[in-house]
Amino acid sequence: MPAIEIKNLKKSYGEIKAVDGIDLLVEENEVFGILGPNGAGKTTTLEMIETLRRPDSGNISVLGLNPVKKPSEVKEILGVQLQTTVFFDDLSVKETVNLFRSFYKKSLETQGLLELVDLRDKSEAKVTDLSGGQHKRLSIALAVVNDPEIIFLDEPTTGLDPQARRMIWEIISRFRDQGKTVVVTTHYIEEAEYLCDRVAVMDLGKIIVTGSPEELIDRYAPENIITFKLEHDLDIDLISSLAGVTEARVHNSAYTVYTSSPEKTMLSILQTAENRHLAVFEINLKKATLEDVFLKITGKSIRQ
Ligand code: ATP
Repeated sequence: MPAIEIKNLKKSYGEIKAVDGIDLLVEENEVFGILGPNGAGKTTTLEMIETLRRPDSGNISVLGLNPVKKPSEVKEILGVQLQTTVFFDDLSVKETVNLFRSFYKKSLETQGLLELVDLRDKSEAKVTDLSGGQHKRLSIALAVVNDPEIIFLDEPTTGLDPQARRMIWEIISRFRDQGKTVVVTTHYIEEAEYLCDRVAVMDLGKIIVTGSPEELIDRYAPENIITFKLEHDLDIDLISSLAGVTEARVHNSAYTVYTSSPEKTMLSILQTAENRHLAVFEINLKKATLEDVFLKITGKSIRQ
C-alpha cells in the first residue's frame, strides 16, 4: 500500500487556485520532496493531507485512510512540523517535550527523542535560549513524539545556515533508516537533490513533474551548462550557433549555454571572444540541477 495517494485534489482561496487538480503517490519508507517556488501550493497540499484543511474536491488516502472522513485515525499515524512553531518561553527543552508527550496516549521517551535530534545537552536549556537550528530541531522532535509512520516537515531548513541545515538533513536520513516515510517541502534545490528519493516539482498549484532528482535531470536537462560573462555583449544568436550548443540565454549580461559537447563549446566560446578581442569572465562548466529542470519546463527560475 502506498503511504499517500492523492487523486485530482483541488483547493481554492476565493479566486486563487492554490492546489489545482494534483495527483501524487508517496511510497512507504521514502523521503519525498515537494519542491517549488513561494506560493506554488506546497503548504496547502500538506495541510490537506494533515487534516488541517478541507479539500474542495479530490481524494486523499493516507495508508488507506481518508483524512476528511477519519481525521483522528489519520492524526494518530502522522507527525507534523509546521513552518513555524511557537513554544512556551518559560519551559525548558525537556519540559516542552514532556508537555507534548502528555498529549498522546503512547509516546517515545524524552531522552531518546532529544538524542534523535542532537539536543541532549540542551535538555535543561530554556527554549528562548536555543539557536535557530536548535529551535527547528526541537520542533522536529515534537513532530515525532507519537512515533508516527509518516512525518511531514514544511520547509524544515528555511533561514538556517549550511551547517544547521546539514544537521537537519542527517536527522531526516535517520528517519528513513528507521523505516519512516518523510514528506518534506522545500524551495532549496540542493536540499531536494541531497535528501529526497523522489520529488514532485510544483508550480502554480500544479505538479509539473515527479521522479528521482537524477531521473528528472536526465530526462529534462541532460546537457552540461556553461555560464560566463563578456566584456561587451554578443548577439545571443551567435552564441546559440556555436559548436555543441543546444540552447543559449542571456540575462543581465550573464550567459547560460546548454551543450551536448562541453569541451567543444567551451573552446568555441573562448575563440569567438578572442577573435573579437573581448575578455571572458567567470566562465564555469557544471552539470544541470533541478533548478535547470524547473527552468526548462516553466521558463522561469525557482528562486524567482
Ligand atoms: P511558500 O513556499 O511561500 O510557503 P507554498 O508553495 O507553500 O508557498 P501555499 O502557502 O500553499 O504555497 O500558497 C498557495 C497560494 O495560496 C498562494 O498564492 C497563497 O498566497 C495562497 N494562500 C495560501 N493560504 C491562503 C489563505 N489562508 N487565504 C488566502 N490565500 C491563501
